Amino acid sequence: MSNLNGIWVVGEHHNGALEPITYELLGKARELGQPVSVLLVGNGVKALAAGLGDYGADKVLVADHPDFAAYGTDAYGSWYGKTIEQHQPAVVLFGATSQGRDISSLASAYLHTGVLNDANALRLEGGVVKATRPIFGGNALTTLAGDAAKPQLVTVLPKAFEKATAGAGKAGEVVELAVDGAAAAKSLIKGFLAEVASGKINLSEAEIVVAGGRGVGSSEKFGIIEDLAKALGAAVGASRAVTDAGWRPANEQIGQTGVTIKPKLYIAAGISGAVQHWVGMKESGYIIAINTDADAPIMKAADLAIVGDLFKVIPEMIKEINAAKGVAV
Ligand SMILES: Cc1cc2nc3c(=O)[nH]c(=O)nc-3n(C[C@H](O)[C@H](O)[C@H](O)COP(=O)(O)OP(=O)(O)OC[C@H]3O[C@@H](n4cnc5c(N)ncnc54)[C@H](O)[C@@H]3O)c2cc1C
Repeated sequence: MSNLNGIWVVGEHHNGALEPITYELLGKARELGQPVSVLLVGNGVKALAAGLGDYGADKVLVADHPDFAAYGTDAYGSWYGKTIEQHQPAVVLFGATSQGRDISSLASAYLHTGVLNDANALRLEGGVVKATRPIFGGNALTTLAGDAAKPQLVTVLPKAFEKATAGAGKAGEVVELAVDGAAAAKSLIKGFLAEVASGKINLSEAEIVVAGGRGVGSSEKFGIIEDLAKALGAAVGASRAVTDAGWRPANEQIGQTGVTIKPKLYIAAGISGAVQHWVGMKESGYIIAINTDADAPIMKAADLAIVGDLFKVIPEMIKEINAAKGVAV
């Protein structure tokens, strides 16, 4: 058994509010039988610390600094690596979100350890993390063990665990962490910055997602997907063919190597439905597919399959949606 102690929850926040994943991680962390700290990194995040004690945090570790105003992979990753190395928590829980995956992989490189990715079940046995994750497109599960000699980094799938509820009544002592080294926060992820600036809907939490695939044809033509998303108040997603082509930022990719989503409504336009895409959205409540090919795999699996050219179908949908909302068209 190692001397490392404590569970860290890496808090995610957006537009000045904590993301649901933070409460989900906290809910699970509370069950693991070690002191729980929530780590909040950003600019102006101290205000978010208040009240986390009531959700079960023993401590809230705050790194509040203007250099953290904009997310930057390199600076953030190495800062997390350094800070985890210095404090030696037994376990660090990240959301399996674009940011959580990004930071955990960089921190793991810094710490020379691995990451247990995409956990949907988690336990701690004698200090060793046992993390279960879906494999083979969600048709099987595998359980992997961490290396308890080092801080064990784990990414957890959104909605895998119940959110922590208020009423724990802990003090939630706020501890301010040093932010030396954050000054290098200059390598910015443009897509992420644009997202923050525009207040865009968070893909992994969105109730409605409209995604486009190779069938959209180009980055310029992706405006049609954005228009439908706007009409529905939805987040925009994409297949890997699209993000690989550079038509959309990587953080919009849905699937095995992208974001896992569970919206109430998922609309896939010009996406064939390869298994690697399917595993990232199959838990959606209702799936609408628009495709010129009636035999595309996604058309067989969708709740509603619309055979047709997305450039003809989507404008009609937008018209109907706006009419239903009473918006002049
Ligand atoms: C290890 C690995 C990991 C991967 N991870 C992911 C992942 O995370 N996410 C992911 O998405 N993919 C992933 N992939 C890639 C995946 O296998 C597919 O190649 C990819 O999903 C295909 O994207 P697509 O459906 O947009 O393109 P295509 O398969 O080319 O499909 C385009 C579809 O658009 C339709 N279409 C064309 N024109 C129109 C039109 N005008 N109107 C309507 N429909 C039209 C076509 O009929 C077709 O069905 C991964 C692959 C590997 C090997």
